Amino acid sequence: MNDLVPTAAGTADSANDIVVLRDVHKSFGQIEVLKGVSFQVKRGEVTVLIGKSGSGKSTALRCIDRLEKVNRGHIQVCGHVLTDPTLDLRQLRLDVGIVFQSYNLFPHLTIGENIMLAPRSVKKLGKAQAIALAQQCLSQVGLSEKFDAYPEQLSGGQQQRAAIARSLAMQPKVMLFDEVTSALDPQLTGEVLRVIEGLADQGMTMVMVTHEMNFARKIADQLVFMHQGKVWEVGPADVLDHPQTEELRDFLGHDL
Ligand code: ADP
Ligand code: MG
Repeated sequence: MNDLVPTAAGTADSANDIVVLRDVHKSFGQIEVLKGVSFQVKRGEVTVLIGKSGSGKSTALRCIDRLEKVNRGHIQVCGHVLTDPTLDLRQLRLDVGIVFQSYNLFPHLTIGENIMLAPRSVKKLGKAQAIALAQQCLSQVGLSEKFDAYPEQLSGGQQQRAAIARSLAMQPKVMLFDEVTSALDPQLTGEVLRVIEGLADQGMTMVMVTHEMNFARKIADQLVFMHQGKVWEVGPADVLDHPQTEELRDFLGHDL
């Protein structure tokens, strides 16, 4: 296989780079919240975005799923060039799974039905196949017993795990997690983080925003520190032990 793929910018990225952001700018009205963000995510690796509230982490993540359109720069995700006017948004959304702080399960559907919904409607899976898939995804997040339960019967941590299972059921190539444990009590955070760790062990490519610094240190193949709309430091998890900038030192001082 050719390990170099041409990009719209005319340069080449490694085929192992599932996500590439290059000099990405994003404004809301007059306010520029991403001011030239660049980083790459390799296949099978976990990238963790850290930084203060308002530094642009969620916006960067949302640009990867094209929930936000960038104003300038280059983004490529699973081979899709997001700034290409002929972008197949449907295919991009099939390749990218995203899980937010709020799980947004449909309350009137069982957990199994919630998970089967998109595979049935988007992928046109037959019922038996969708049930098997949902069961498999529920077992992946340790909720095999909850297929017939309703969301309100589950704890917050279990609901978030069900939301992860729902995303997994679309068999994405990359998963994005935006502060998925922030709404949870500390005792429920661990079970969700363990599920994410399990996915990492299985080789899932992931980009996540988290304030759980110990978890970031443990799971990250790559850490990206953002501050005021820019990337200040990128590197393996030990950038946390050897911050090069005053900004990262300051951030760690406040958060650890
Ligand atoms: P983080 O996730 O690091 O806390 P965000 O990406 O959510 O940061 O936000 C970065 C900045 O962009 C903040 O100042 C925020 O108020 C602003 N912002 C985010 N989304 C919008 C939006 N849809 N409209 C206007 N401003 C926004
Ligand atoms: Mg955010």
